[in-house]
Amino acid sequence: MAKTYILTKKDKDNEYDIQEWKDEKPPMMKCGHSANSFWTNLPGHEGKNIHTCVICDADGRIAVGVPDLRGRLAKCGCGNTRESNMGLAFFEYKGPDSTAASRICKKCSYTHYAHLPLWKYELSIRRDWFKLKNITTKENRQEHMPDKKTMDTFLQQRIKQLIKNSKTPVYGPDRPESLSEIFEIRIVSIDGPLPSGAGHEFEKHGPYKYDSYYCGCNGWD
Ligand SMILES: [Zn+2]
Ligand SMILES: [Zn+2]
Ligand SMILES: [Zn+2]
Repeated sequence: MAKTYILTKKDKDNEYDIQEWKDEKPPMMKCGHSANSFWTNLPGHEGKNIHTCVICDADGRIAVGVPDLRGRLAKCGCGNTRESNMGLAFFEYKGPDSTAASRICKKCSYTHYAHLPLWKYELSIRRDWFKLKNITTKENRQEHMPDKKTMDTFLQQRIKQLIKNSKTPVYGPDRPESLSEIFEIRIVSIDGPLPSGAGHEFEKHGPYKYDSYYCGCNGWD
């Protein structure tokens, strides 16, 4: 069988260690899922099978080892249960110290993000839009963010991403010019902090009775 690898996070942001994974069962990822896919094009490590979670993007890339599953049961949405096992499809550990136990609210079952203050923003976007040249459009949205600094960082990244996406040719490589290119984005307003809408303080759910998995009851496509 081909060798597999895991990424673990170093102390500094965005620095990873890569190491071989020798267990035949997949590792648990930081998001709480057992690894369910391989990432094969990590820059500098192309072709290596790196365990990852395709359900969760960022946290799903970092492995945290294997939780203690003794005596635990996993439940599918249809009600089927099985002994918890990292090899079950879309397995998510929800016991002590799990992501679910600390990030899901006991009162409303939403993630902690839904309890953070709301920030409304408006962007003014100058762009081409197919036959319309050099027009201005708006983006009005809202996000849950802990503070103004995080909101500012989010908007800088949003702006970079919008510009990058707009430069991708719509009709593929044989028609290399973009027909919807963005020239300039201006932040018109940032409104916040506004009430989260949750109406209560976040309260950790704590360990769940059951882990979760998918038993195959709706097919595998
Ligand atoms: Zn995940
Ligand atoms: Zn809540
Ligand atoms: Zn099921």
